[in-house]
Amino acid sequence: MVAEILTEIGIEELNKTFTYLIPNELREKIQVGMRVLIPFGRQKLEGFVLSIKEYNENNYEYKLKNIIDVIDEFPVLNNELLELGKYISEKTLCTLISAYQVMLPTALKAKQKTKINIKEKSYIIKNKTDDEINEYIKNNKRSEKQNILLNDLVNKEKLEKTNYDNAVVKSLEKKELIKIIKEEVYRLDNNVITENKKVVLTDKQQQISNEIISNLNSTLTYLLYGVTGSGKTEVYIEVIKEVLKNNKQAIMLVPEISLTPQMVNRFTSVFGSNIAVLHSGLSLGEKYDEYRKILNGDVKIVIGARSAIFAPFKNIGVIIIDEEHTSSYKQDNHPRYNAIDIAKERSKSHNCPLILGSATPSLESYARAKKGVYKLLELKTRVGKSKLPNVNIIDMKEEIKRGNSTFSRDLIKGIKTRLENNEQIILLLNRRGYSTFITCKDCGFTHKCPNCDISLTYHKTNGMMRCHYCGYADRKLMVCPDCGSNEIKDLGTGTQRIEEELNNMFPNARIVRMDVDTTSKKGSHERIINDFKQEKYDILLGTQMIAKGLDFPKVTLVGVINADTSLNIPDFRSGERTFQLLSQVAGRAGRNELPGQVIIQTYNPEHYSIYLTKTHDYESFYLKEMNIRKQMKYPPYYFITLVRILSKDFKKGMDASKKIKDYLTKSLDKDSIVLGPTTSIMYKINNTYRYQCIVKYRKDDNLKKSLKKIIDHYKTDKEISVEIDNEPNKL
Ligand code: ADP
Ligand code: ZN
Ligand code: ZN
Repeated sequence: MVAEILTEIGIEELNKTFTYLIPNELREKIQVGMRVLIPFGRQKLEGFVLSIKEYNENNYEYKLKNIIDVIDEFPVLNNELLELGKYISEKTLCTLISAYQVMLPTALKAKQKTKINIKEKSYIIKNKTDDEINEYIKNNKRSEKQNILLNDLVNKEKLEKTNYDNAVVKSLEKKELIKIIKEEVYRLDNNVITENKKVVLTDKQQQISNEIISNLNSTLTYLLYGVTGSGKTEVYIEVIKEVLKNNKQAIMLVPEISLTPQMVNRFTSVFGSNIAVLHSGLSLGEKYDEYRKILNGDVKIVIGARSAIFAPFKNIGVIIIDEEHTSSYKQDNHPRYNAIDIAKERSKSHNCPLILGSATPSLESYARAKKGVYKLLELKTRVGKSKLPNVNIIDMKEEIKRGNSTFSRDLIKGIKTRLENNEQIILLLNRRGYSTFITCKDCGFTHKCPNCDISLTYHKTNGMMRCHYCGYADRKLMVCPDCGSNEIKDLGTGTQRIEEELNNMFPNARIVRMDVDTTSKKGSHERIINDFKQEKYDILLGTQMIAKGLDFPKVTLVGVINADTSLNIPDFRSGERTFQLLSQVAGRAGRNELPGQVIIQTYNPEHYSIYLTKTHDYESFYLKEMNIRKQMKYPPYYFITLVRILSKDFKKGMDASKKIKDYLTKSLDKDSIVLGPTTSIMYKINNTYRYQCIVKYRKDDNLKKSLKKIIDHYKTDKEISVEIDNEPNKL
């Protein structure tokens, strides 16, 4: 017998398998989807077994080598996952080996350097019947300690070995009264007992759950569009209960678990320890164990971030993607897969529905729901007595005239009142973009590209403003074309400075800051969130990471310090991202009986992405934004593929980019559009220059072929590398 082995060879990414002989002693063990050890030149490499077949000497011109050993006891990739890897490789234009690597936890990747072990515990079990043991105890007058152990063991299945004296254990083992066994223990115990609050679903929640439950044997994709606090989580729970009754499993994706510990708590209070949790906050060993809980069939539910979509369940009954609009569901580096696409593939393989949930669905998803591709389910009101909060939009142009550049009078007053009433406050500081954009301090004007409708980026070196989609360039304006002011500049703000200002204004307020600096340590997210929930602080000041999913009953005021930062990011999705962010963060206010208020500070109060949050009007936002997308030929009307070209040599990179553009323009359909080449928004990272071309297309049969040609052409080039990103998050 021989096996086809897929392995990773050096830095060259070859999409190729190699044939190895299966030695007799491995014949019984080896299976497709296992990892094996093979000799390769002078090295030993790990690889995946892709197929096993009869050996026919005549088919090979050279002598085949033997497989050295198998690494796994069971296949780490079953048939479904092996097929899924092919899909990923085809869809993202990556090699098959990278597709398989991305599907597995680090501990199971071929070529893994640090070995992560299974943790085991030793137990004492009986090696004789209870009667025989009792008999021994009766006659044993010498060792009190032995009798204690044996007495403990009678009527018990097993005892923890560490609780007993080693010498005593040894001698009983010698007498063949007991045996020592080892059992796997998992590093994480997710069975945190929390109070189980009984929830009776509202009529609407019940109706939606019933609809999904009656279609559990379909591959429908649902879009559950429900305002913040409308009780989407309870719908998920109801559906999962039914899935478990059918003896099937559930995958639930959340944007980032460390930010939503409350969601996990809610689940454990219903499902106990039947849950594995997978996210970036875990150590490699913990991740490995959570993965093994799934593999060993010890849990039926997995909650996790993006990569949990690859959970090796064999009988999935539902897949849920909460906050489906979140950009982190798309992997930002190679292979650039989107968890929603993977979910659809798996939904087909397992014949189960997919639920996408959001209060602010992505334009793509809502458009699909309107077209009937997805089935739309709506929860339009909050649960119980709580109402959506009042939103006030503050025009900072007016405030700045009075010298208030950070805090408007209304926001200061709002904070003061809440502090006096012992209520809590969340303040959002929109994280700065990665580029410099220039805004008029007097009227909020931003210089935009006439072709692409995105903000131009300021290049200090030559004083020019550039569009990094199409390459349009213009001189930096000295005077605002709208109002004539010469106060055109970069309006940045840092979290720390805001914290200081806040401290000066409210010396008695207890303030906690949550941003990349304060959350770098493991568990710090949870700690901040828990402390805030337990009212150890009055004000939570943070970046985007505070916007999602949190449920604090005592928060009655949410303030957005600078709504414009995300609006001015040079990306066609900046309007959508701003509306989502403001709606999400506004959703943190007034989630209980206490009414909530939201204060949004902006230089662009007339921008639809901002003023429509006042009325929580997603529908109007959607219509306006779709109009622009149509005019400017952006998704969902067009698909986008980004071709990125990297080189340490500025000129060679530019030349290659031009060639790529020319090649694409020639080979693609006439209605496809190729923009660029331009420098990327982060145009130099690690001394490597970055260029890009953008392809906009509706349907293009030549695209994939042409992209593959480009990849192949530059594969062996030492000075140029090319990356392809289909449906990129960031352009
Ligand atoms: P969403 O995910 O839509 O923002 P949640 O599922 O977090 O909303 O629900 C918001 C709040 O309402 C939570 O505190 C939840 O426990 C509560 N809740 C949801 N459904 C019900 C219900 N049927 N009865 C009572 N409370 C509910
Ligand atoms: Zn102006
Ligand atoms: Zn442009």
